[in-house]
Amino acid sequence: THFGFRDVPEEEKETLVGGVFSSVASSYDLMNDGMSLGVHRLWKDNFVSSMLPRLPPSYHQHPEPANPSSVRPANPKFKCLDVAGGTGDIALRILDRAREKFASRDVEVEIVDLNQGMLDEGRKRVAKTLYYNTPQIAFTHGNAQSLPSHIADNSIDLYTIAFGIRNCTSIPAALSEAYRVLKPGGKIGVLEFGKVSNPLLREAYRQYSFQFIPILGKILAGDADSYQYLVESIEKFPTQPEFAQLMRDAGFQTGQMKEGRGGAWRDFTFGVCSMWTGVKA
Ligand code: SAM
Repeated sequence: THFGFRDVPEEEKETLVGGVFSSVASSYDLMNDGMSLGVHRLWKDNFVSSMLPRLPPSYHQHPEPANPSSVRPANPKFKCLDVAGGTGDIALRILDRAREKFASRDVEVEIVDLNQGMLDEGRKRVAKTLYYNTPQIAFTHGNAQSLPSHIADNSIDLYTIAFGIRNCTSIPAALSEAYRVLKPGGKIGVLEFGKVSNPLLREAYRQYSFQFIPILGKILAGDADSYQYLVESIEKFPTQPEFAQLMRDAGFQTGQMKEGRGGAWRDFTFGVCSMWTGVKA
């Protein structure tokens, strides 16, 4: 079709994906709110709180030394990598949670994204926060499938990718890079559109996405094609158990192959959105 990128060779897809996100970068927040009726905020809140239920004890502020003249040891940093982090939605939630819930500023998030437009929007946004100009947040231009070389093997405590892995030309390549850079015991969290399992709801959701989203894209962002691409990429993405299997194939330990507590994934909003978690053994 002249709309989607269905028949496009993989190499060209990356350039096209770049184009999509350049053209949507400035209207990105507006569109997310418009398309999901604001619910993406709740998905992201839930995602971050389940990826960071607590901070490992070693990352909590050391108490004041008994002898004030002794040198206080530097706290280790809890290192997060937010890939396809775009405008900083996940990164800022991680930092806020660490600070508000655990009184910790020893968490650092590096955002990696393929698109300069999104990184620029993210930088602008961070400039309005108290993390601005601190080592707590960094932006790097790079690809999930071959992460920038300064990110070493076994160096990351928490790897997140939200609504980004769907756009990767090779999901296995992105997952194996995640595995490589995580520390043993480090966690991966993937947030992505899932598949709605209830047949009635699935049909309603299909109608909504194919009819309404491109129109909304046209009205809010003046760009129907980019949003048509998003809808098609959601359709093509693996089902929840299929994606869990890809995580296992990459070496991650997951929960059982089921949804919910103790399972490899958790559905939000009937499976419109889903999160998968895994641990590097
Ligand atoms: N994580 C953010 C959020 O949840 O709001 C942004 C999600 S946005 C839908 C997808 C992002 O993935 C875009 O910023 C895009 O540039 C980025 N992206 C697409 N393919 C990528 C790749 N191969 N490597 C890194 N980033 C990529």
